[in-house]
Amino acid sequence: FLAKMSHEIRTPLNAILGFAQVLKRDPDLRADQRDSLAIILRGGEHLLTLINNVLDLAKIEAGRETLQTAPFDPLALLMETEAIFQQGARDRGLNLVIQTVGLPPQVKGDQMKLRQVLINLIGNAIKFTDSGSVTLRAEAVDAGAGMRFSVLDTGGGIAPAEMARIFEPFHQAEGNSGQEGTGLGLALSRRYVRLMGGDLAVTSEPGRGSCFFFTLPLGALDPSEPSSSPSEPPIIGLAPGQPVCRVLLVDDLPDNRE
Ligand code: ADP
Repeated sequence: FLAKMSHEIRTPLNAILGFAQVLKRDPDLRADQRDSLAIILRGGEHLLTLINNVLDLAKIEAGRETLQTAPFDPLALLMETEAIFQQGARDRGLNLVIQTVGLPPQVKGDQMKLRQVLINLIGNAIKFTDSGSVTLRAEAVDAGAGMRFSVLDTGGGIAPAEMARIFEPFHQAEGNSGQEGTGLGLALSRRYVRLMGGDLAVTSEPGRGSCFFFTLPLGALDPSEPSSSPSEPPIIGLAPGQPVCRVLLVDDLPDNRE
């Protein structure tokens, strides 16, 4: 049921997000139109995240989520994750810091799931911190057989009574429920970390900050093995001299074909 619903919801969302992205590139937009488009995009992306999270949770709970392991460069992953949040942290007057200790050049693991967990944790840390810093620390442990990741913030912290409950789906701590968010990020992150062979835990001091941390068995690899490429920049056009291609696009709905 969920898989089918998710398809039905995602298809029109594709049209909303796709056309909003195309429109955003128009240099002749007025400032107020640009703002409206940004709201459409943010709302659409939020809805997409919600659907994806619900579907991922359902998949994990049905035992259908599997690991996609491949070699990757852990430092590149950290830098990429930092780049996503650099501007947002600066806008909130926060210092975003990356610390690494003894990272191997190559490890083997599920890069996409690890990235999603880090994005969730850093996103939360920035959202719930009003001043100070957010630190992402990655260190080799167990004589290089594993890596420990910690996300530390200097935010409001989490009350002891909330510590266990924040990992439950849709739970948002008292006083935070007005904030944007789905309440699914930590539930999903914990399940992903467990799937990867670790566990997600938290320590927190109300008024001083929180630290979310986990250790994964990501073994170091011979750097000569090819690693998967980092995420691609936006496509701006075709390189000159390409052969002419005929593209066949099939959909019964004109909006989707468009
Ligand atoms: P969301 O962030 O979408 O509300 P999460 O599952 O990611 O959902 O987090 C659940 C709740 O845990 C948050 O609503 C917040 O109350 C609390 N929380 C998570 N991370 C932090 C943090 N770094 N500092 C303080 N509270 C946090």
